[in-house]
Amino acid sequence: MSLKEKAIAVYRKEEEECKEKEQQEIKEFAEAAAKEFERCFREKPDEIIPEDDWSCVIECDGLRFKAKRDTCRGSRFYLGLVCSECNRYFETEVMSLEHLGFLLSRKPLCQNCAYKISRRREIIKKLEEVLVLIKEE
Ligand SMILES: [Zn+2]
Repeated sequence: MSLKEKAIAVYRKEEEECKEKEQQEIKEFAEAAAKEFERCFREKPDEIIPEDDWSCVIECDGLRFKAKRDTCRGSRFYLGLVCSECNRYFETEVMSLEHLGFLLSRKPLCQNCAYKISRRREIIKKLEEVLVLIKEE
């Protein structure tokens, strides 16, 4: 085998091993995230869709979650929701079964719309204060 052939063969072998290792890591993360999901939400996922070695999608009871690897705690879970104001898909972190219940009990609002609504409330409150002042005069 010539030098060029040897170099290419070594490189290809290395590349193949890297890909295998990566596939293994993707699979391992998805498995660990599924276990953690079950521990956190007391329910087995219906489907686990591996994405990469730091994220996967978990489907359960018609809900879609994204699991993301966290350096200090295994994974963080994000619930996929559609905003009730602008109809955009967004993800919000969900910490526990109780927190999931809280999120499911209210109208989903993306950060943008939640901000706009709270600004609107502030303005209305200010206007009401002004009205009270006018009436007092
Ligand atoms: Zn929105």
